[in-house]
Order: sequence, then C-alpha cells, then structure tokens
Amino acid sequence: MSATATGETSKQTDTGRLTGLDGPAVLDFTQGWDYAPAPESAPAPIADSYGHFINGAFVDPIEGERFDTVSPSTEETLSSIANGSEADVAAAVAAAGEAQPTWAALPGKERAKYIFRIARRLQERAREFAVLETMDGGKPIKESRDVDIPLAAAHFFYHAGWADKLQYAFAGRTPKPVGVCGQIIPWNFPLMMAAWKLAPALACGNTCVLKPAETTPLTALRLGEIFQEIGLPPGVVNIVTGDGRAGAALVNHKDVNKIAFTGSTDVGKRIAKATAATDKTLTLELGGKSANIIFEDASIDQAVEGIIQGIYFNQGHVCCAGSRLFVQESIAEQVIAKLKIRMGSLRVGDPMDKNTDVGAINSRQQLDTIVKYLDKGRKEAPEFWESNGSPLPERGYWCRPSFFSGVQPSHTIAREEIFGPVLAVMTFRTPDEALSRANNTPYGLAAGVWTDKGSKIFEMARGLDAGVVWLNSYNKFDPASPFGGFKESGFGREGGLQGLRAYVKI
Ligand code: NAD
Repeated sequence: MSATATGETSKQTDTGRLTGLDGPAVLDFTQGWDYAPAPESAPAPIADSYGHFINGAFVDPIEGERFDTVSPSTEETLSSIANGSEADVAAAVAAAGEAQPTWAALPGKERAKYIFRIARRLQERAREFAVLETMDGGKPIKESRDVDIPLAAAHFFYHAGWADKLQYAFAGRTPKPVGVCGQIIPWNFPLMMAAWKLAPALACGNTCVLKPAETTPLTALRLGEIFQEIGLPPGVVNIVTGDGRAGAALVNHKDVNKIAFTGSTDVGKRIAKATAATDKTLTLELGGKSANIIFEDASIDQAVEGIIQGIYFNQGHVCCAGSRLFVQESIAEQVIAKLKIRMGSLRVGDPMDKNTDVGAINSRQQLDTIVKYLDKGRKEAPEFWESNGSPLPERGYWCRPSFFSGVQPSHTIAREEIFGPVLAVMTFRTPDEALSRANNTPYGLAAGVWTDKGSKIFEMARGLDAGVVWLNSYNKFDPASPFGGFKESGFGREGGLQGLRAYVKI
C-alpha cells in the first residue's frame, strides 16, 4: 500500500489551466506530458550489518542491540545498524580523548592534508555517496548528487584551508582546541551535517564522536570507510549510531568538552538544560519557520522559482525552509496562479530517478506528523491546493507538494514547523507590515526577500530577525558563509570564520 499524505480519495482542485493571467495560453503539465524513466545506476553496495566506527575500526555494539535502517521510498530494509548504548559512547569518547593531544600537536598543515584527502575521496566516490544518501533518506538523486555531496566535500576543502591559518583567523589570540566534541545530527542532510560539524572541529585540533540520526546512518558510516582509506589516525573521528539514548549519553558524558547539536528545538532545549551546570560548551542549530517575502516590484517568475526552492527542496525537510510565504496583496492572485502552474510540473516519486523533483518523506513517523498538520490546516485555512501530476509509487512514504492560502498568523500551520512540503501563504500591504508579520515567530533561522529595489533589500535585511537573509534567492549555501539562528532556532554559527569560533578556546 502506498502511504500518502492526503489519501487515495484526495482530488486536485485545479488542473493548472488558469484564469486571471494575461498573455499566451498556459501549458497544462498534468495532461499528456511524461518523461522516460532515468534511474541512476551507479552502484552503492550496502553491507547486511554495520557496527560503530570506534578507534579506527568498525566494532559490534557492546550490548548487542541493533535496529534496521529502511528505504523510505521502497520500505525495504537496507541494513542492520548498531544501536549505541552508554557503554558504546564511553568507548568512543575514550578513543577520542586518547587521540586528541596527538592530533592537536600535529602542525596545522599536516592536519590540513588529512582533511583535504577526505574531501578528495568524497569527490572521487561522489556518485556512490549520492546513491546511498538517496536510498537511505529518500531525497531526489539530483539533490544528493548536486547539493549534498558536493557541499559536504566543499566543507572539508574549505576547512583544510583554515587548519594552518588559525592564528590569522583570531588575530592577536592563540586559539587552542576545545578537546573532545560530541556532535549530534539530524536526518535531513545526513552527510552534509556530518561535514559541517567534523570539518571545523578537525581543522582546529579537536577529536570527535559523531552521532548520526537513526533513520539515516549509512553515509556517515561510509565516511568511516574513507577515514580508514586515507589513514586518519584512529580515534580522531568516532561514529556511534543509535537513537536519542546514544545522543543523551554523549551529552551527559563527563569527558566530552563540547556539544554541537543540530535537530529539533525540543531536544535542543533538553540538551541546553543537561549541559547548563557543566563546563561543556554548546552550539544549537534548531528548527525554523522562515519567511519568504515577495514584493510587488519583484521579478515574479524568479520569485516563484524561489518559492519552489524554498519549500519543496528536499521534501520541505529543511530547517531554513521558506515555509511562510508573504506576498504583497496587489500581486497575490498572480503569484498564486503562477505557483500552481509551476507546481504542476513538479515530479513526485522514485528518488533514484534523475527527473524526480520531490522524493519520499524520510520516515513513516515524519509522514504521520505532516498528515496531522495537513488535517489541522484544512480546518484552519480557507484554501488548500496540492500538485497532482505524476502517479505515486505503490510503496513508500509520499506527500504531494501543497499550500494553504488565506492563512492567518495565529493558525497552527503558520506557527509550527511542519518539516514537510507544505506552504502557508499570507499577504501584506506595506514593508513594515511584512517585517512585523515575518518576525512574529518564536524562530529566527532564515528569510528570503524578493524585490527590485536595493533600498528595500537593505531595509528588510536589517529588520528581519533571522540568522540568514537571502535576497532574490533562497537556500544558497557556501562553506565560507556562516549559518545559524536566533531565538528558538538556536545559537552559534556553522561555516565561515564564525563557525571556527565554536571549536577553539581563545
Ligand atoms: P531530533 O531533535 O528529533 O533529532 C536530532 C538528533 O538528536 C538525532 O540524531 C537524534 O537521535 C538525537 N536525539 C534525540 N533525542 C536526543 C536526546 N534526548 N539527547 C541527545 N540527542 C538526542 O530532530 P530530527 O527530527 O532528526 O531533525 C529535524 C529537526 O532538525 C527540525 O526541527 C529541523 O529544523 C532541525 N534542523 C536544524 C538545522 C539547523 O541548521 N538549524 C539543520 C537541519 C535540521
């Protein structure tokens, strides 16, 4: 049975042939258009089972507990994964503690060589990593191939460059490593999040214990193979797989000097409490409900692309997703009409197909969460629209891209992070109103602004309570550019000079 967000009985309310648009007839992508299948064929062999990666070797879990990692697009079991216990975490922390002084004592240019080699090997094995990421997480192969893996490699390259220049990063100071870093990551960008955490830590002379998310452990474990291939000294990076129990054991371990956490605001708050009375340093990259603001003077077609990029990229499993759309009232009808046309061309389905735009929802649990919000939204908002182009696969977890319009700021779907391909559309009249509505959220991770006016761009960028503001673009990432939030989106930055700060004592 295919599990869909809206169920078998859901109907498309609009075919994409639209009223209210001037100009030539509009193509209806839902009628008679199809692509030949274009499956990615690069091999990515997966072992029947994996252990933790501790002290340079793959080892069985001490208490013998395991769980399965499942492909969200086929519901097939991919592999049996070690479920980390306190004892596994203790072994990993001990290995990291032992390796740390020697790693830190290496000249920066020697550490750089290892980090550079990791980046090169990632590039050389990029197709295999992309396939594995897509199988384990459900994201379209074109995204893992063109975004996740290249950006992960770029983070290692970038930080290899910093390893022998730290004295220039913190001029007049003597940066020292923090020590053993516990790094806990989510499932939406598994390899990329691992790279964002490991690369700066290693450059600064720290050693690491990484805890991948339970639904997406495979690429982190494959990274362990790369560490073996390039001869990274044992214990410098350790990987303990498992659920929240392993994460909590890492947070509470007395020999961990720093916790870097990316995940939900709820768990982030628990970690902040657990570390409050200790001398551990902490950075938190948490949830978001980011505003994408379109002014009437924007290039509308470009802005519509930005909306699509902002909310439907990676099935909306993006912390900085532009999940609240604010459109200036005068162009709202036109933007919504164009959005429907563009959404009609999105292909939802087999993530291993190179033509697929929206892949599988990462897990049954996440699909259930999204469905609850869709049900809530149907009661709150006056209009719901979902794209209904390609047929969905028989098995797997699927949710068609959709939006609610006529949403009020008080609606649950405008306030809470859904973490799925669901957009809340609202309107505004003046720049001041756009600012106050955009900032009316407990989160402060990112925002997008679309306008032709430079002065408006600067005014909005200054006024938005968001760690990142994209101007006439959305979801653009670069290792040199710091990323992070305000308010309940967390604190600390990843990437750039600011990102290094979390991994040194000065
Ligand atoms: P989550 O908080 O449930 O889990 C994140 C990680 O924490 C997982 O590895 C999990 O096993 C671990 N964990 C769970 N309970 C724990 C505990 N008590 N102690 C320690 N670790 C624990 O989040 P998720 O569902 O995996 O990820 C989605 C969330 O991540 C969203 O809210 C999203 O916005 C956020 N996110 C933020 C950023 C950012 O940069 N701000 C980036 C990606 C995702």
